[in-house]
Amino acid sequence: MSISEIISLITILFGILVLVGWAFNIKILLSPGEGFSTIKSNVGLAFILIGLSLYLIQNKRNNLRNKRISQLLALITFFIGFLTIFEYLSGIDLFIDQILFKEAPGAFLASHPNRMAFSATICLILAGLSALFMDYETKSGQMPGQYLMLLMGSVAIMALIGFAYGVSYLYKLPSFTGIAIYAAITFLFLFLGLLFARPDKGLMRVFNSDLLGSKNATRLLLPSILLTLILGWLLVQGRNFGLYRAPFAISLFALLTIILTFILTWENTLQLNKTDLQIRKTQHELEKSRDNLELEVEKRTEELLELNKNLEREINERKKYEKILDQKLNELKRSNSELEQFAYIASHDLQEPLRMVSSYLQLIERRYSDKLDEDGHEFMEFAVDGASRMQTMINDLLIYSRVTTRGKEFELIDMDQILEKVLKNLEVSIKENNAQVNYKNLGKIKADPSQMSQIFQNLISNGIRFKGDKDPVINVISEENEDEWIFTVEDNGIGIDHQYSEKIFEVFKRLHGKDQYPGTGIGLAISKKIAERHGGRIWVESELDKGSKFIFTISKNPED
Ligand code: ADP
Repeated sequence: MSISEIISLITILFGILVLVGWAFNIKILLSPGEGFSTIKSNVGLAFILIGLSLYLIQNKRNNLRNKRISQLLALITFFIGFLTIFEYLSGIDLFIDQILFKEAPGAFLASHPNRMAFSATICLILAGLSALFMDYETKSGQMPGQYLMLLMGSVAIMALIGFAYGVSYLYKLPSFTGIAIYAAITFLFLFLGLLFARPDKGLMRVFNSDLLGSKNATRLLLPSILLTLILGWLLVQGRNFGLYRAPFAISLFALLTIILTFILTWENTLQLNKTDLQIRKTQHELEKSRDNLELEVEKRTEELLELNKNLEREINERKKYEKILDQKLNELKRSNSELEQFAYIASHDLQEPLRMVSSYLQLIERRYSDKLDEDGHEFMEFAVDGASRMQTMINDLLIYSRVTTRGKEFELIDMDQILEKVLKNLEVSIKENNAQVNYKNLGKIKADPSQMSQIFQNLISNGIRFKGDKDPVINVISEENEDEWIFTVEDNGIGIDHQYSEKIFEVFKRLHGKDQYPGTGIGLAISKKIAERHGGRIWVESELDKGSKFIFTISKNPED
């Protein structure tokens, strides 16, 4: 429950107690005793009404219906005060004072029986109006209702000071009914209740925040009010005892107020300065850390710039090297193709003179055979053999150089069909050697069909030729991964010593004599060139007497 809500309920309760006091003539509910005027029944009724009005406009139940009822109650309260003051000022008796309960004439401090005090009428008018305009706010955020409350609070406090200090003028004007102390206390409560109904608006906003000023005001206000009141009361008591006269009391009051103000201001300033110092310190630290941060950022930026420079330098250098590398690569390609061209032209052009050498050799042998002795015949045989070997080698070289110079476009081919054709070519040799070639689903690939035939033919015929004791069994297997097709030709032949696994792919390199195994030593070199032309490679996995596994790959993106 909020302060305002509690006060609204207390006000209602006080109002009810007043009416009960009047109804059952319970004196203590109307005044503390002899020498005090009684609280009037209309004031009790007004307390119930204004208390209810305040209860209904509490923020949590402030809907339109409650607001209207609250405003109606506030208006009635206003009229109770207004009609009574009219009676006072006009001298006309409206017969409203005793409408609830009668009072015997001549009650203490009462100008008219059961008529409420003059100051009570003012308080009711102000309370009624301020409740009525509770939520009225000007454009600049002022709440006029709150100023009315302050006025009412001042009247109530003035009356209470009058009671405390024994100054009757403050609670009773001559020829008017004096306010009851109960009423003055309740008005003070009501004042606070109305003020705290909207604690975050209007002038109350000043007190209700966590800003330094608000904290300061809350801390200063209550002690200074209470201390001033107590001080005044003490001085009045001293004078009443006859310790000093009024001018002295007032002088003393002035002096003590000055001292009090000084102490409060001093204490308060101390607190403020402390907070201010703290703020400055924090600000200073903040500035320092900001400076540090700036420095750090500067340093880091410099480091970054330096790094960037280095990086740039490195990139430039790398670019330079890349360029050189590119140049070298181009040079290499050019010299390679020149070399190929040269090999092709040389072997092609060598054919003619060689053919001439061997045909004239044959002519000599035919025409002059009876003129040659045994040695002569033997020499002729060597020369013819040499010339024919040279012819085979030149033919091999031509085939080798044609892999790149006369290669065909790549097309989609069925490797099963290619292998079938190869096996047909090798039919005789397969039969003679009782060989067996196994293969299954070799798949479709993009390649030069005649070169694929050639590579299979080379590897399979090698598998048959270099057979061991057993009949040759050759398995052809195909696999693929993301980048390439992989073909394996596996035999159960004599195998290859590990140290020659690179050498055998070189041109005219052989591991055996011609008498042992026929051949020229070009087949694997051609196979290597074919694989490379297809963006792949070829290698052997083998051991002596344990068969060989030749593996070659064909790239799926040969341009890369
Ligand atoms: P050629 O077969 O005409 O000699 P290749 O280039 O095909 O020429 O082979 C080079 C050498 O590699 C062969 O002489 C042989 O010594 C060895 N070689 C090739 N294939 C096999 C194989 N399947 N088993 C064992 N040795 C082989």
